[in-house]
Amino acid sequence: MSTEKGPNFLEEIVAEDVKSGKHGGRVLTRFPPEPNGYLHIGHSKSICLNFGLAEQFNGKTNLRFDDTNPETEETEYVESIKEDIRWLGFEWANEFYASDYFPQLYDFAVSLIKKGLAYVDDSSADEIASMKGTPTEPGRNSPFRDRSIDENLNLFDRMRKGEFEEGSRVLRAKIDMASPNMHMRDPIMYRIKHAHHHRTGDKWCIYPMYDFAHGQSDSIEKITHSVCTLEFEVHRPLYEWFIEKLEIFPSKQYEFARLNLNYTVMSKRKLLQLVNEKHVSGWDDPRMPTISGLRRRGYTPASIRNFAERVGVARRENIIDVGLLEFCIREDLNKIALRRMVVLDPLKLVITNYPEGKTEMLPAENNPEAEDKGGEREIPFSRELWIEREDFMENPGKKYFRLGPGLKVRLKHAYIISCDSFEKDEHGKVTQVNCTYIPESKSGHDTSGINVKGTMHWVSIPQAVPCEVRLYDRLFRVEDPASAEGDFKDHLNPENLTVVKQAMAEPSLLNTSAGDKFQFIRKGYFCTDKDSSEGKPVFNRTVTLKDTWAKIAGKDS
Ligand code: ATP
Ligand code: MG
Repeated sequence: MSTEKGPNFLEEIVAEDVKSGKHGGRVLTRFPPEPNGYLHIGHSKSICLNFGLAEQFNGKTNLRFDDTNPETEETEYVESIKEDIRWLGFEWANEFYASDYFPQLYDFAVSLIKKGLAYVDDSSADEIASMKGTPTEPGRNSPFRDRSIDENLNLFDRMRKGEFEEGSRVLRAKIDMASPNMHMRDPIMYRIKHAHHHRTGDKWCIYPMYDFAHGQSDSIEKITHSVCTLEFEVHRPLYEWFIEKLEIFPSKQYEFARLNLNYTVMSKRKLLQLVNEKHVSGWDDPRMPTISGLRRRGYTPASIRNFAERVGVARRENIIDVGLLEFCIREDLNKIALRRMVVLDPLKLVITNYPEGKTEMLPAENNPEAEDKGGEREIPFSRELWIEREDFMENPGKKYFRLGPGLKVRLKHAYIISCDSFEKDEHGKVTQVNCTYIPESKSGHDTSGINVKGTMHWVSIPQAVPCEVRLYDRLFRVEDPASAEGDFKDHLNPENLTVVKQAMAEPSLLNTSAGDKFQFIRKGYFCTDKDSSEGKPVFNRTVTLKDTWAKIAGKDS
């Protein structure tokens, strides 16, 4: 799959502006999260785009917290957002807060009132809605629309001083109640909220609306290219109206299609519900599409940036297959993950002709895909081993290349063994497999001349490290949970987590650090979870080995 594409439409616009010397060839973008939740994979698209555009054109990017809704915003979210952006590999030029602009935004509002372009409306929210009209019918002017400038100045000042109750008055722009664009029908600029703000405390009791904060903040920072998602396209005339009437720096807004992923919900409000209602363990639950969830799941920054690149930048909404994201992480982990042997469903195997009490240390390369093979480790081999229960069959068919009575396989990094017999308990469950090994078949020194089709992973019993392994599946069982019938939570996949309490790992996995990445041979890619404790590691499955995306895309990598 090629990542070489021509420039996208935003790159073309910026290149043209730089060439024509607009703003002296200066490029300044911004990433403007609202600190009301953790960032998700959709945001990473916007981050890669904004920071990427700036990097490409020797520009800079501001991080601006769009914190104008006091009730839902928290400092915890601010911290997590900063951590996630840095983790993705980007550094902002300035850290700004829309709330820092409250005094300036207030002055802007006053200047619009003085120009006769804004008025205080005493109508209730319901009355304002009923006068709004519909997309096909014009709205009606508010009875308060023609207040004098002095009265408006007086009332707005008193709104700020806290003299009025929440919902009793708003400040509106005086534009056109008959505009075909509903956003131009005297949009609300300020509302009263007697709420505590995470940064400004109780200093303010009026707060600007998105439309009166965003563009003005862009302008205050002299942002050259303000990139946002397509749903803001209809807001653009208003964005431009405010800037024009205020005669401030002419930032320009450009829209692109938001990232949608199947089997995923991507709205902070919905993700917050999953957290609050304990469908997941937290914002960083490895099943979550949050950046912190993906990080804990074992995703790398490179894989996410690569994913954003492959998805591309479009002006048309579409839904991306989550298989593409998995493809990107597999591709990266294949290069960097250390190969290890872990048995998830242990069955005891005894090599009857191997000396009791003997332990042999066998060399094993860490990563055949890495340049120096990732170096080597040694793994103990002994008479008693754990193998995967599914690797043994009592009555194997002709096409079965693993273990069964009379069959031979190679134990990875070790010897060829031949199965002689097995034992069962009173329920008919196989409890032990007995084999003999062929001493001259040792890996790397094989003189046996025997060819076998199957190779199996194993773990030496005396040195085995018991561990917990968490296997994740899709969080939802339908492609588009947000628009499926009923509540989106009705569509949670009940099997989105399987916990293997007692898997058996090779001893090199005893002391690893949270985030360390491995390929458990034949089982998938895994990483160490932060829930690990002394002597009891916990691993998350990042992704299976099977590449379903390659099939979808008709590729064979
Ligand atoms: P959500 O609906 O998930 O709460 P939001 O758009 O309200 O998202 P913001 O914090 O306002 O979240 O978003 C910050 C930036 O990230 C905005 O510029 C927004 O357009 C962009 N963004 C949010 N979701 C996506 C997405 N799915 N794809 C691309 N960009 C996104
Ligand atoms: Mg938002």
